[in-house]
Amino acid sequence: MISFKLSEQQMQIKEMTHWFAEKEIRPIALVADELGKVPDEWLHQVNQMGIQLNTSSFGGGKGSSKGKKKREREGNRMGVLATEEMAWGDPAITLSLPGAGLGGPPIESSGTPEQKERFLSIFTTDIPRWGAYALTEPEAGSDASGVRTTAKKVEGGYILNGQKIFITNGGRASWVVVFATVDAKLGRAGQRAFVVEKGTPGFSCTKLVKKMGLRANETAELLLEDCFVPTENLLGGEELYETSGTKPSGFQVAMKTFDSTRPIVASMAIGIARAAYEYTLDIVRREYPSHGKFYYLASEILAEAEQDIQAARLLTWEAAWMADLGIANAKEAAMCKAYAGQMALDVCSKALELLGPTGLEGHLVEKLYRDVKVFDIFEGTNEIQHLVIARRQYAPYDIRV
Ligand SMILES: Cc1cc2nc3c(=O)[nH]c(=O)nc-3n(C[C@H](O)[C@H](O)[C@H](O)COP(=O)(O)OP(=O)(O)OC[C@H]3O[C@@H](n4cnc5c(N)ncnc54)[C@H](O)[C@@H]3O)c2cc1C
Repeated sequence: MISFKLSEQQMQIKEMTHWFAEKEIRPIALVADELGKVPDEWLHQVNQMGIQLNTSSFGGGKGSSKGKKKREREGNRMGVLATEEMAWGDPAITLSLPGAGLGGPPIESSGTPEQKERFLSIFTTDIPRWGAYALTEPEAGSDASGVRTTAKKVEGGYILNGQKIFITNGGRASWVVVFATVDAKLGRAGQRAFVVEKGTPGFSCTKLVKKMGLRANETAELLLEDCFVPTENLLGGEELYETSGTKPSGFQVAMKTFDSTRPIVASMAIGIARAAYEYTLDIVRREYPSHGKFYYLASEILAEAEQDIQAARLLTWEAAWMADLGIANAKEAAMCKAYAGQMALDVCSKALELLGPTGLEGHLVEKLYRDVKVFDIFEGTNEIQHLVIARRQYAPYDIRV
């Protein structure tokens, strides 16, 4: 049987995060956008309150193992519920919250127990800290197998050289999961994932990118110049790559990450669409007579928006539920990400149209419209999500696309 009813614990998470988004995030959304950053004092305060963007289920060693297991099984569903509410408050601030962020899932899924402890426990302190995930390069984004950053094996570790671009929280991160190749000729099989720590000689942030949207969230360019990374920081250790033979292990680490991060990113897009929809609905209800021509047009558009938001949400819940149960969900994760990203873009565009020129005058919807565009780009563009889906459609017929 299928149940769409949230458990008591899930309702609590949803309500708590909504309360936080309404009271603490939304009031500073436009200010942070204008400033191009989230105020440091605010980040310190929320970190003290224990509010983080942790996409991993690392519990910091507290509680019984029985309780911890239960949390882990629900981690993806809890994650999408909470993230929708936070992003409803503001997506750029949500992405800026302290925590492992997109760097959490690769460590969680492929790190050794020692690496999980070492890299994920740093977020359980009073000081706000960030993790990051660096795959994209000038020549490799959609085509993750095209990574050019090199990793040369030397005694005790590897020397990394290369450039990473568009890295969320990359400049402020305490560590970054960096994808590099030990031999470009091996293609995917040559890829490895390293945890590169801030302050490592040869590792630097060269630029913070000025963006059209998500302005309050840091996007960085990183440089690795003869950067020595010890073997202990090779994600999963040498064994992970030795036992996988000719399989594309580093590439697999990158792809596996998407199975849990794409539903999270989809839920952010849903939160943005809901914010734009609710904001516009409120104005239409208050300012237009219920019998006017405009009112009927607006009702049609807003009804469709609500329906599409719910469709995206159900796709996302399913993908998160599958991830929690350990069911292969690459197709469903791609579906929810592609659908939610496009849907949110459409809803924000329609909301802006309904508000007319006034919508461009410092209204929340104007900001959301700028913020939402990237949701059909990062974590894989829509074309790439459709390729992921198509590959699985053709797989039974042994046809490669
Ligand atoms: C704000 C922001 C934050 C980001 N954060 C991160 C981060 O934290 N870590 C990280 O690693 N990356 C990050 N990215 C990078 C992002 O994931 C990439 O921009 C994205 O994957 C697209 O890659 P690309 O830019 O190289 O575009 P390209 O791969 O060059 O794509 C250009 C166009 O070609 C299309 N295309 C490419 N290949 C195909 C194909 N085979 N079939 C059909 N169409 C195709 C694409 O869909 C796209 O429309 C971020 C980007 C932004 C803008």
